Amino acid sequence: MSELTPTNAQRAVTLVGLKYRRYLTTPLPDTSAYKFYKLTEGFDTVFHSIYTKTFRTANLAIFGTDKITSDQINGFVTPDDPPSNRVIYLNLDSTTANFGTLVHETIHAVSHSSFYPTYYCTAGLAPAVVEGITEYLTRKCSPTVAMSRRSYQAWYEATEAWVGPEGSPRYQQMVDWIFRGRQPLNWPVNDYA
Ligand SMILES: [Zn+2]
Repeated sequence: MSELTPTNAQRAVTLVGLKYRRYLTTPLPDTSAYKFYKLTEGFDTVFHSIYTKTFRTANLAIFGTDKITSDQINGFVTPDDPPSNRVIYLNLDSTTANFGTLVHETIHAVSHSSFYPTYYCTAGLAPAVVEGITEYLTRKCSPTVAMSRRSYQAWYEATEAWVGPEGSPRYQQMVDWIFRGRQPLNWPVNDYA
């Protein structure tokens, strides 16, 4: 039974709001922003329609190839600006997507536009940094979510090694960047190689 449901999407939004609302500059999504698709019902079509613009160069960093297919993707967030126009697509055919996927995609959905998609699309190691920070914030939402996650493990670890405990000065730099668009000059991007 897939954990990708509208009820769980609302739970993910509530959890992200409880944890990060004080930092957010964009509104939390509502459940109508979440589109649950099987591959045969259009997930593939939508994925390819924005693939070239947003994900193609990023995929070189994430997968080592830019020739990926939608069945390798658990979900994605459209790169709309303002963020309130974003749509969160979830792949119901995924065998690895779970509640944590909804939390992770919700954090992408409330990321400042200068972080996602603008910085993300500069490619190089930027997608690794974006996914590492997003995954760090996903796992810090709850111990249960943290235990369920394996995605982007190395980039999560690079983030945690740099940031240290929640509330540290680097933690504040991180949330100022992802949620408010203030990019720090000293982020150790090369640690994500
Ligand atoms: Zn992601």
